[in-house]
Amino acid sequence: MSVKWGLIGASTIARQFMIDAIRAQADGEIAAVMSSSAERAAAYARENGIPAAVSNLDALLGSDIDAVYISTTNELHLEQALAAIEAGKHVLCEKPLALTSADARRMVAAAKAAGIVLGTNHHLRNAGAHRVMREAIAAGRIGQPIAARVFHSVYLPENLQGWRIARPEAGGGAVLDITVHDADTLRFVLGDDPVEVSAFTQSAGMAGSGLEDGAMCIWRFKSGLIAQSHEGFTTRFADTGFEVHGSQGSLIARNVMTQKPVGTVTLRTAGGEEELSFDRDNLYVRSVGRFHAAIHGEDQPSATGEDGIWSLTAAEAALQSANSGRAVRIDPKLGSMN
Ligand code: NDP
Repeated sequence: MSVKWGLIGASTIARQFMIDAIRAQADGEIAAVMSSSAERAAAYARENGIPAAVSNLDALLGSDIDAVYISTTNELHLEQALAAIEAGKHVLCEKPLALTSADARRMVAAAKAAGIVLGTNHHLRNAGAHRVMREAIAAGRIGQPIAARVFHSVYLPENLQGWRIARPEAGGGAVLDITVHDADTLRFVLGDDPVEVSAFTQSAGMAGSGLEDGAMCIWRFKSGLIAQSHEGFTTRFADTGFEVHGSQGSLIARNVMTQKPVGTVTLRTAGGEEELSFDRDNLYVRSVGRFHAAIHGEDQPSATGEDGIWSLTAAEAALQSANSGRAVRIDPKLGSMN
């Protein structure tokens, strides 16, 4: 049985990664695309070989589709997801799930009540690099994890220098864009949850309208581990990386905070250094594959709706901390608290 998808949003991420990822599934088909502009919907459908183009949500949700992929700007995710859930369509939603953790909790509760699969498209959980680090930690190869460092400050490509740096009401800013991924990847790799964050943000010349284009966060996890993460849009020459340091060893990953299945992971212990090998599967293909399996009742999405609540609560707490100058507690049931 094939899964028929409707795309909500004529977006760059769908064009660059997700259309191909859906079509790479043995049972994946894209039936229609929705844009707020009929003209853009038609052009996007034509350019991407999508059979139908619509410009309102009811038309899309009333058509013969099983699932929607939501990749509009962030302020639209909530109402689009709730409408799709009400129409009985499974929802794979881009991060952040919504603008506030309270809204994300509404989405997850609605999906649960309706028996709908809701996934969050945190692609990095699907990277072989992050999976091999998670496995090494779970197998005790670095002993007790003590500290982690995430380097995820990049240069926002010119074609994406739009709402992310200009529209707070659309959920712009580096924290809702990148910190959500870092919080999720830390949770995934460590198998641990953050309980508190302290953050500084900056505007280093790219973002306007009071939005931040860089952030540094310090996290405390349940186990007592502390972590730091750096997110940004303005560092043209920075590398990405992910490190976890434990009592018996360190994991040092380079060039792994990316959309491609690239990078290296090194395990360093008293015995020396070992380069860990990992699969180079396409991150987005794996994400859609897990989502299809979840629809068929065989698996969970790589990142569930609950994971999306966690990452948004963490990002919200980081923003609150940057505004207040205080450390902020993170509770996915209640949101962030000063
Ligand atoms: P885009 O800016 O490409 O698209 C977002 C919306 O902007 C579209 O839905 C579209 O509206 C509108 N739009 C796009 N191009 C134009 C244009 N030329 N003129 C006017 N409007 C336009 O955003 P992204 O693809 O970068 O991001 C979309 C979502 O995906 C966000 O939630 C983001 O956080 C997430 N994302 C996730 C990634 C991941 O790896 N998980 C990576 C990148 C983004 P309409 O549909 O009405 O036409």
